[in-house]
Amino acid sequence: MQKVPYKIYLEEKEIPKVWYNIRADMPNPHDPFINPGTLKPIKLDDFLPVFCKELAEQELDDTHQYIEIPDEIYEYYKTYRPSPLVRAYNLEKELKTPAKIYYKFEGNNTSGSHKLNSAAAQVYYAKKQGLTKLTTETGAGQWGTALAMACAYFKMDLTVYMVKVSYEQKPFRKAVIQTYGADVVPSPSETTEIGRKILSENPGTGGSLGCAISEAMEAALKSNNCRYVLGSVLNHVLMHQSVIGLETKAAFEKIDAYPDIIIGCAGGGSNAGGLMSPFIKDKFDKKHNPYLILVEPASCPSLTRGRYTYDFCDTGRITPLAKMYTVGNGYIPSPNHAGGLRFHGMSPILSKLYHDRVIDEARAEEQTNVFEAATLFAKCETILPAPESSHAIKVAIDEAIKCRESGESKTILFGLSGTGYFDMLAYTQFMDKTMTDYIPTDADLEKGFATIPKFPGLE
Ligand SMILES: *Cc1c(COP(=O)(O)O)cnc(C)c1O
Repeated sequence: MQKVPYKIYLEEKEIPKVWYNIRADMPNPHDPFINPGTLKPIKLDDFLPVFCKELAEQELDDTHQYIEIPDEIYEYYKTYRPSPLVRAYNLEKELKTPAKIYYKFEGNNTSGSHKLNSAAAQVYYAKKQGLTKLTTETGAGQWGTALAMACAYFKMDLTVYMVKVSYEQKPFRKAVIQTYGADVVPSPSETTEIGRKILSENPGTGGSLGCAISEAMEAALKSNNCRYVLGSVLNHVLMHQSVIGLETKAAFEKIDAYPDIIIGCAGGGSNAGGLMSPFIKDKFDKKHNPYLILVEPASCPSLTRGRYTYDFCDTGRITPLAKMYTVGNGYIPSPNHAGGLRFHGMSPILSKLYHDRVIDEARAEEQTNVFEAATLFAKCETILPAPESSHAIKVAIDEAIKCRESGESKTILFGLSGTGYFDMLAYTQFMDKTMTDYIPTDADLEKGFATIPKFPGLE
């Protein structure tokens, strides 16, 4: 049999023409978003002051299986897609495993992550609606960069509220965002009411994604012709990321293979959800049954130690309520280096699929182990992985080692969501052995849980 090539490339014309909307196929829908004012399910009109219309419609859409990708977005996708599916031959050899390891690499654009897939779509729809300005939050900076890139291309103004620890740890990330023409504000800031409130209650805080979301939403509501956009968690973001999974499936078809195990790192859940959703369709259709694993940091363990309940998506409590796995909207995680995974909640779609065990497992990993896996991967496969993505690498390596022990030659697929060039402070700490693991105690988690709102009849 012919050896599978290192890189399984698709042609430009094989970039998917549609996004896959998994909600149309979920046998058990996720519980609706709730308006915290009325305690009734969110209607389209509730979303419109904050989100642009087409995205709000996509957010609530549970009927259309596929949504056509507009030409303008497709043209943009062509500048950096299709992304390669890679066979990690060198890593397999190093691990002496009979497993076949594949990864889908989304870091081959300046944002250094998959986030451009949704940024391009969100900016396009905002522009089409005649808006002139957007606000958003960014944790590690990848989303801010992706959005700044898309705003530069479609000619929109942008203000990015960047979690303060990242702003300070990653000055070059900030500079890249500014190079594309966006404004960057460290969050929490004095520029919003909620920022001032958070600062007065927690002086010296390094901020969190939840805080930055609150500030960006407040700023959008107070500006004309402006809307807020979010880089993960929401249904429409996960749907845009389905290009990852659709391309991956097409590439596997070319080599007549299918993954037994699929692994994704989960912050808000969009890259893992985008990678897995076309394969989950095969589970629903009873065609295949791949084993699905989500990986999160031990310092922010929403799936493995959180509660499945209604919570706000932000610390300022201005978003709708979403039923999801959460450690509480007021939980401020320790400054773990995987900034993109420091969100207190999880995509309502993935939360539901995990709750129903369509997604088989969630694992929490400590950062020193994650960086050990990252470093091994970089040496074998040449790509310097993002700390976020390295959570998936860690579990892929563990599964490959299990195969070595059992002699099974399973096909393992993981999402390599991005590159880590701006994370050298973290890599340096790992090399210097000054990196520490932070695992919250039950008491730490209880403090977070105490911030989950209690509304009669909602849980
Ligand atoms: C943002 C980010 C993540 C986590 O986000 P999800 O919404 O869970 O996909 C993972 N990896 C990288 C490189 C990121 O930038």
